[in-house]
Amino acid sequence: MPTVYNWQLGRKMHYPYEERHPRWQFAAVFNTNRCIGCQTCTMACKSTWTFSKGQEYMWWNNVESKPYGGYPQFWDMKLLHLLDEAHQREGTEAAWDPSQKDGAQRPYGVFEGMTIFEAAVKRYGPEGHTRALGYIPGDEEWRAPNIFEDTAPPYEGDRMGFSKEGVSLPEHKTWFFHLQRICNHCTYPGCLAACPRKAIYKRQEDGVVLIDQSRCRGYKKCVEGCPYKKAMYRGTTRVSEKCVACYPRIEGKDPHITPDGVPIETRCMAACVGKIRLQGLVKIEEKTGDWTEDRRNPLYFLVKVEKVALPLYPQFGTEPNIYYMPPRWVPRAYLRQMFGPGADDAVNKYMAPSRELLAVLQLFRSTQKIIFRYEIVEGKKVFETEINGKPWSMYNDTVIGFDKNGTEVARLTVEEPVYTRPAKHLNSI
Ligand code: SF4
Ligand code: SF4
Repeated sequence: MPTVYNWQLGRKMHYPYEERHPRWQFAAVFNTNRCIGCQTCTMACKSTWTFSKGQEYMWWNNVESKPYGGYPQFWDMKLLHLLDEAHQREGTEAAWDPSQKDGAQRPYGVFEGMTIFEAAVKRYGPEGHTRALGYIPGDEEWRAPNIFEDTAPPYEGDRMGFSKEGVSLPEHKTWFFHLQRICNHCTYPGCLAACPRKAIYKRQEDGVVLIDQSRCRGYKKCVEGCPYKKAMYRGTTRVSEKCVACYPRIEGKDPHITPDGVPIETRCMAACVGKIRLQGLVKIEEKTGDWTEDRRNPLYFLVKVEKVALPLYPQFGTEPNIYYMPPRWVPRAYLRQMFGPGADDAVNKYMAPSRELLAVLQLFRSTQKIIFRYEIVEGKKVFETEINGKPWSMYNDTVIGFDKNGTEVARLTVEEPVYTRPAKHLNSI
């Protein structure tokens, strides 16, 4: 079986196909700290792509409430359990070695456990009936896209759990958070690896993963093999479907929004009320799969330089391309399990953001156009305080975003401007 390099794991891993990479990769950063769980993103996707008969339970974008929620129900706990069983059978552990951290090639250290691909080979052999360890959820598991909505674990420390201790940083004892989920357009997709019909492909121009509906025969192997459960079977057509990354928008083919043909963000990103999402296209070294160094691309900065945004369950091994800024109030052990060993650093950086990070954070949801480059114009110091016993200052810098053509599409200051209207415009109601 060929081996490929997975930078999120810091090592080579088994994958059923030879290493091959697109020129650009669809990617995004979601700031979980800001999400209000309004589901506007969910409905923006549904009303665009999956409103037809037979797609009732298809939520290509869903926002679930952790720790209990999941769509399909308990998808991640089930996967973790399957992997845990696989490790126990082999007498090994799904452990990370963060001491082997080394630049962009091993930013989080080395994952020493088995991925879903390696666990499948161990269990069933290289020509076994499945190439990615997984399962097919039962019908009842797809019944509610946000089951356990806003449900926190019980806190026994005080009556009703409302004591100061229960909700004090760094870790709240009563907690939940919203996890926004779309297809990760993985570098090494589990759905693609599992498909016996070779009906799933990754586009060279933007890394978007699509299902060729004319080749699909509805075997549901993609549903089984996607660890994130983002490939979905449609009974009315008897083929599978999944998020298409709003590819006409990425191609700049919307004549109303982009008459100049520049790429624009997907519907779920553009509609986000909480301003938690920032989408991008990152340039990829076709031979190695590395992200081409691009210091002024906001995604490159957040993921590779500041490392404040992390992949979801990197240990599954698909190298997902949606990155999360972890919620700062959640127990760290939970965050490490979900986002890997970079979780502690990411939270600390978000709690006391660098001057550059604070400016880049303003770009979230400032324009529908994909920002390829930013510049910062320094402003005055406007605030001083102490965070975690260390001095921290805020500067009113201006951040400017540019689209693919190099045209300015966003200009924001760190301090939100206040406009005072003349009294004659006061509302009379
Ligand atoms: S998230 Fe799932 S459906 Fe999407 S590319 Fe990865 S494996 Fe395939
Ligand atoms: S629209 Fe934004 S804030 Fe609302 S649920 Fe979706 S990701 Fe969260």
